[in-house]
Amino acid sequence: MEEKKENGLSSTGNFIHNYIQEDLEGKLNKIHTRFPPEPNGYLHIGHAKSICLNFGLAQLYGGKCNLRFDDTNPTKEDTEYIDSIKQDVKWLGFDWEDRLYFASSYFEKYYEVALKLIKEGKAFVCDLNAEEIREYRGTLNSPGKESPYRNRSVEENLDLFQRMRAGEFPDGAKTLRAKIDMASPNINMRDPVLYRIAHATHHTTGDEWCIYPMYDFAHPLEDAIEGITHSICTMEFEDHRPLYDWVVKEAGYTVNPPRQIEFARLGLTNTVMSKRKLRALVEEGLVDGWDDPRMPTISGLRRRGFTPESIRDFCERIGVSKANSVVDSGLLEYCIRDDLKAKAKVVMAILHPLKLVITNYPEGQIELMDIENNPENEALGTRQVPFTKTLYIEQEDFMEEPVKKFFRLAPGKEVRLKGAYFVTCTDVIKDENGNITEVHCTYDPETKSGSGFTARKVKGTLHWVSADHCITTTARLYDYMMLDNPDSEDSEMIMNPNSLEVIENCYVEPSITEAKAGDKYQFMRNGYFCVDTKDTTKDHIVFNRIVSLKSSFKLK
Ligand code: ATP
Ligand code: MG
Repeated sequence: MEEKKENGLSSTGNFIHNYIQEDLEGKLNKIHTRFPPEPNGYLHIGHAKSICLNFGLAQLYGGKCNLRFDDTNPTKEDTEYIDSIKQDVKWLGFDWEDRLYFASSYFEKYYEVALKLIKEGKAFVCDLNAEEIREYRGTLNSPGKESPYRNRSVEENLDLFQRMRAGEFPDGAKTLRAKIDMASPNINMRDPVLYRIAHATHHTTGDEWCIYPMYDFAHPLEDAIEGITHSICTMEFEDHRPLYDWVVKEAGYTVNPPRQIEFARLGLTNTVMSKRKLRALVEEGLVDGWDDPRMPTISGLRRRGFTPESIRDFCERIGVSKANSVVDSGLLEYCIRDDLKAKAKVVMAILHPLKLVITNYPEGQIELMDIENNPENEALGTRQVPFTKTLYIEQEDFMEEPVKKFFRLAPGKEVRLKGAYFVTCTDVIKDENGNITEVHCTYDPETKSGSGFTARKVKGTLHWVSADHCITTTARLYDYMMLDNPDSEDSEMIMNPNSLEVIENCYVEPSITEAKAGDKYQFMRNGYFCVDTKDTTKDHIVFNRIVSLKSSFKLK
């Protein structure tokens, strides 16, 4: 049996634990991790995997985890994203305490390191343009060519780099490059660019800088400056690790330098995860913003009705490995059903109404039926639901000519109305086009729920609402956002044309008048629903279906 800690993470669960345990038995006393989002979009469920991993490891081993905004790119970043990311990390249940950092606050420090490298002959100012740099870089099979500017003197490099900072050169005119090895089998080590010129306004430092560090230079320094012990990132950085280690070492961080560990990024079926593609959906107006309930963003999942518990459970179940894989979206749905099963009140709501009139029930009579709020959780108690002569049931619960094994309502057939009486269908009323508008039934007063009636049994139980008391709401039913798995870089995104179905007249029993934005219910037989936080008004509730009750997904 794996040992389970209180936060749900198992201490023997994956290879990262082995590395950390090894380090803690050696020279390290404490671990320190970080979650380093770039504030250029909203967080998605893939980020949640990284958040659970980084904050979870810190919790498990009594260490710390920083929230650090990797904001070294002046374009594309925005404070709107910073606020949303903070909100999402908190909502997921993690706390960075007083350790909120911005990579942009280290700009001066990166610059100092660059000067140190130049002085030590390990970096040079290069005049090749982007295209030439690419040409000189060589390929996987052939070595690169040294830049003609590689052997500039330290003095000339210092002078040029300082003038780059002072704004003397236009964008792209020069770069600062590391002097490593143009023949290295690892292309990342072939004199990588450390700084570029960009006359752009940065959202925190304004126009103070017109040179900006490259990710491969800034990121290891950020980790080293903050005393990060384990820098956990996704697989595409595996080949960058020698450069990461080079920067840390050459900058002088030689005592307990951060250790980069890569893991596989999360992909999910029938959705897109890359921020670029999610942004495109938002900008093209194909979805209702970053928090559209179909989006795999944390804000979308929250609005849809997913709980932090369900997302953490999902991240625990998918595990961490080095092999890239696409996880079935059904697993995420399994996790929210599992979480809400005993938590959410079960109420009756009709998505596609059919009027049912009980001809022998007294006109104007109202009986309050006691119905349990959740059969799986007695602690949620009971509520009273008004029962009257005219009700609504689901259209699909009635068939005029029932097929085999249809145990619901049909002419001459008897069913139970949940928490109320047995009714038998006596008549079908149609309009001039032959469409069924009403079914008529009689009820048997002896069969009242809770009366102990056992004389006969019925196979079907239908949910219902009183036509005089039900609340008219809007229900939005969702299907997967994408028709297939278009996450590979160049595959086309094809939205599922049926990803959203809006039901304008969803009739819900009156107990939901107390519902607040974000409240979650099970609609009996129709799935789990959440009160929409954006479109619900004080007079009208909009429900988002989180998930249906049934799924073809099987837990392995
Ligand atoms: P995208 O490619 O979607 O733009 P990103 O990696 O550029 O994502 P960042 O803001 O840099 O986004 O990500 C912050 C952290 O989240 C990084 O450490 C990154 O490794 C991790 N991360 C991003 N996407 C995923 C994913 N799909 N699965 C696991 N971790 C992820
Ligand atoms: Mg990134």
